[in-house]
Amino acid sequence: MATGLRSVSSCDVIGIGENSVDLVYRVTQFAGAGQKVRATGCRRLLGGQVATTLCTCAALGLRTRYVGTFGTDDHGRLIRSELEQRGVDTSHAHVRYAPNRHAVILVDDHTGERTVVWQRDSSLALRPDDLAHEAMTGARVLHVDNVDEETAIAAARLGREAGMIVTTDIDQVTERTAELVAAATFPVLAERVPQALTGERDTPTALRVLRQRHEGMLCVTLGPRGAMLMVGKELHEAPAFEVAAIDTTGAGDVFRGALIYSLLRGDRPDVMLRFANAAAALSCTREGAIGGIPGLQEIEQLLTRT
Ligand code: ADP
Repeated sequence: MATGLRSVSSCDVIGIGENSVDLVYRVTQFAGAGQKVRATGCRRLLGGQVATTLCTCAALGLRTRYVGTFGTDDHGRLIRSELEQRGVDTSHAHVRYAPNRHAVILVDDHTGERTVVWQRDSSLALRPDDLAHEAMTGARVLHVDNVDEETAIAAARLGREAGMIVTTDIDQVTERTAELVAAATFPVLAERVPQALTGERDTPTALRVLRQRHEGMLCVTLGPRGAMLMVGKELHEAPAFEVAAIDTTGAGDVFRGALIYSLLRGDRPDVMLRFANAAAALSCTREGAIGGIPGLQEIEQLLTRT
C-alpha cells in the first residue's frame, strides 16, 4: 500500500455484515419435482457482501477488520481462515453454535441461469449489543450491509458519531432503508434502491431527490452499464469496462471495496468511479466473489489500456 494511505488509526476499514459459502453445481437442466439430475461440475466458492468488500480492501493494501458471525461447522472455519489468510482481522467476529450461512446454487450449463437455495440460521443474526466498543473504533471507514438492518443502522450511527466515513451495501428496500441511508455518510446503492426510495424511475432524477434529504456522496451501481456518483449537485457517470464476463457474483462488493480504497487514496470522484468500475469488471471475468478479487496492478493495467 502507498505510505500516504497509512494513518494513525488501528485499521482503515471496519466491515459489519455477511459472509457466505456457496456450493455451485453446474447442471445440463434444472430438475423438476421427483426428477434426478447429474451435476457436470461442483465448486465451493466463498463470498458474502461485506466479507468480499473487506477482502478487496485488503488485497489493495488496506487494514481491515470484520465484525460478523461465523458458524461452528466446516464452512464457518473455511471462510474465517480465508479472510485471515487474506489479511482481514477476524478477532472481533462472533461464533455461533450453528451452521455457517451457505447457499446451494444450480447453474444451467446452457443458459447460465441460476437457482439459489440459501440458508441462514437465525442465531447467526448480528444484534446491536454485539457491537463492542473496541470493535467499532479506530478506523477511517465503517462499511455495513443491510442483512441485519437494525444492527446496521445502530452501527452506522455509532460510526457517524465517531467521525468515520460510513459506506453501505444496500441492495433491497425495506421500511427501514431510508433510516439506514440517513445514518450513512456515503451510501452506495443498487440501482433499484434510489428508485424505490423516491418513486422516480430515472436514476439521475432519483439521486437529485435523494440529494434534498442527504448531503453526502451518493453512489449507485448499474450492473453492465457502470455506475453514478453524486457529489454536491454534480453527477458523475462512468460506463462499465467491456470484459468477457463469466460470473458477476460479488461485482458490487468488489466495486465497493475498490471505491473505498480510491476514496481513502484521495482520488477525484471521476477517478474513484473508473477505478471501482475497473476492479468490478475484472471480478466478473472470474468465478466467485472472493475468488474474483483483482490486484492493484491488474486494475491499473485495465485503466491504462482503455
Ligand atoms: P451487484 O453485483 O451488487 O448486483 P451491479 O450488478 O450493479 O451490483 O454491479 C456492480 C458493478 O460491477 C457495476 O457498477 C459495474 O462496475 C460492474 N459490472 C457488473 N456487471 C458487469 C459486466 N457485465 N461487465 C463489466 N462490469 C460489470
